[in-house]
Amino acid sequence: MFDLDWIPRFDLQAIAQRPPTIWRYREALPIDNEESIISFDEGFTPLSRLVIDDHEIWVKQDHLFASGSYKDRGASLMISKVNSLGIDHVVEDSSGNAGAAVAAYCARAGIACDIYAPASTSAGKLTQIRWYGAQLCPIPGSRADTSTAVMRAADGIYYASHSWNPYFFHGTKTWAFEVCEQLSWRAPDVAILPVGNGTLLLGAAIGFSELLTAGVIKQMPRLIGVQALGCAPLYQASLRGWQITTDVAVLSTLAEGIAITQPIRGQQILDAVRKSGGAMVAVSEEEIHDTLRWLGHQGWYVEPTSAATIAGVRQALRHLDKDQIVVSTLTGHGLKSTGKIGHLFDDASGEA
Ligand SMILES: *Cc1c(COP(=O)(O)O)cnc(C)c1O
Repeated sequence: MFDLDWIPRFDLQAIAQRPPTIWRYREALPIDNEESIISFDEGFTPLSRLVIDDHEIWVKQDHLFASGSYKDRGASLMISKVNSLGIDHVVEDSSGNAGAAVAAYCARAGIACDIYAPASTSAGKLTQIRWYGAQLCPIPGSRADTSTAVMRAADGIYYASHSWNPYFFHGTKTWAFEVCEQLSWRAPDVAILPVGNGTLLLGAAIGFSELLTAGVIKQMPRLIGVQALGCAPLYQASLRGWQITTDVAVLSTLAEGIAITQPIRGQQILDAVRKSGGAMVAVSEEEIHDTLRWLGHQGWYVEPTSAATIAGVRQALRHLDKDQIVVSTLTGHGLKSTGKIGHLFDDASGEA
């Protein structure tokens, strides 16, 4: 499904000489002509140490992108491709961050874009989308209602979907390239990533497997996917023989970035995690809240969805040896969700 009938190449010496952006892996990124590339010189985010419950792990600071989330990796590739095809108008649906990233890259490319998002999305993300000049279509109801609305709109306009479009995943795969390069071209033992539609997890799986096929790394890391218990169809599926079921109860969750009830690549995500020898984990609202507060007190201002990931790391570390190289990621900047985070203060005590 991600096969673009082309072979990625890695010239490690050439890569080392290039500017620190995702485009340093040029021969592994499927865009034919340089002039089509739409870029903010994004990528090569810092891979930093974080000590959690006595374990030292690595976290990639993917909240540090122009639009404030890792979705810029995918948007750069996808909008470059759209641009190379001469398309001048796209639609996209998103729980917020993908819409903001696509709107930013479309603004840079001069491509018109309509973004469908649940009306309940963090106000900051909706403002950001409009500020880029995109047409925002807020849809009342669930994330699934937003998907239904965009499918109707996509009848006559190019559907630049981050969860369908293979080019988006060929952008997010650069997460894996950067992690391996930053570890001196070796693979981590374990990668722990958030999962809603799996754009980062599947991208990472593609990236690691391309490096493995090219002989750059020697082993595939185990992939651990994190969901919020309030919306955990893939975690539930992993408990039931790795088969998707549709009768999953959904509650609301602070982790709006991964609240996807019907991930369209669900079975692919499950297969990637299972084949890697990994696992799915799910975290409660209390764990998300506690971890968000803990991160803040360590100096990290990230959105609640990113705290969910780190809460998942905490769970997973209980089952991992300390000598394992574990990599995780912070996916979205806290400033996007300041309104929602502000509500977590208990006004009586002034404590969060
Ligand atoms: C998009 C997003 C994720 C991961 O979502 P997928 O649906 O799995 O692609 C995680 N965190 C944040 C902040 C996001 O915006």
